[in-house]
Amino acid sequence: MAINVTRSSMPPFEEYCEEIKKLWDSHWLTNMGTEHETLERQLKEFLDCPEVVLFTNGHLALENAIAAFEFPRGGEVITTPFTFASTTHAIVRNGLTPVFCDVNPFDFTIDVEKIEELITDRTVAILPVHVYGNICNVEAVKDIAERHGLRVIYDAAHAFGEKYDGESVANFGDASMFSFHATKAFNTIEGGAVCIKDAMMAETLNDMKNFGIRNPESCVFVGGNAKMNEFQAAMGICNLRHFDEEIAKRRAVFERYMENLLGTDDLSLPIPRVNVESNYSYFPVIFTGHLDRDRVFLTLRENGIVARKYFYPLTNEYECYRDYPTAGRDKTPVAAYHADRVLTLPMYADLALDDVDRICEIIKEM
Ligand SMILES: *Cc1c(COP(=O)(O)O)cnc(C)c1O
Repeated sequence: MAINVTRSSMPPFEEYCEEIKKLWDSHWLTNMGTEHETLERQLKEFLDCPEVVLFTNGHLALENAIAAFEFPRGGEVITTPFTFASTTHAIVRNGLTPVFCDVNPFDFTIDVEKIEELITDRTVAILPVHVYGNICNVEAVKDIAERHGLRVIYDAAHAFGEKYDGESVANFGDASMFSFHATKAFNTIEGGAVCIKDAMMAETLNDMKNFGIRNPESCVFVGGNAKMNEFQAAMGICNLRHFDEEIAKRRAVFERYMENLLGTDDLSLPIPRVNVESNYSYFPVIFTGHLDRDRVFLTLRENGIVARKYFYPLTNEYECYRDYPTAGRDKTPVAAYHADRVLTLPMYADLALDDVDRICEIIKEM
């Protein structure tokens, strides 16, 4: 049987049917109905965050979060290229310029030693990524932002449910975006949210996702449409009930990989941190020496196992950014080195531990 890199978490079929039955009674399918309201309330509690604004997907959550700060056009946003297309696109689609900071070689999050040299009088914000659920050096980012009067918006797409020193990851920076895409640890089929402390900004974001319409007779912003519908919210309500079990299962998979691969020559494994409650979203491995990444990728594929070259290519080497003066992988050598050597191995709650053993055997025999 083929093993994919991930597999969406789903509640029992009957449980979802029970949840959406209400929609056949109400005929209310979208526009902030009771499922939307319930999920929003549950997520505020679960994420221990004062304001949660739901969106139809994580990308539009991020795009709108950036827009809500009303940065001057042409402003510069310091970010990393070792991420999914969405992070950089969200900056550019807001008329802002991404300035690419390198990542650190330990957990691939923004290298806080290299942020300050990129700050200019046009810099408006820092947009770091908790990549693979690795929580950035949030203290250092906060310190730099405060000293330079910058906003901090986290791409927390990978970090749902995590805690750092007991604090919910939702509460770092001025805003954090989560993705609830089918492939993420917690999903609403497609979906996302912005977590924010400022109640006024949450109201703004709620208006922005619904055309800027505050009430039937008042349109206050030139907003788009990015509402989460009731079927998405219902999926979220069901999946949230099972989230803790999901994470426990993912953790078992993570540990099995570690047991199998620890001490293997020419690969380096994720480094778990004692003060982080992880969601075990990804299992990224860096291949060096005799273990050429592309050869490992192909060998696994020949065995029906799909790994992903996350995150290769870097966003600063995308064709669409070729003419940007800030682009180019040579400006971020640590990110480039790891983009050429990384594979994320299959990781999902129901991945059989025997299959983990098999995947590791194939790699170790290479
Ligand atoms: C998934 C993802 C997004 C976008 O989320 P969608 O819900 O797919 O729109 C943004 N940033 C990162 C790092 C992601 O992995």
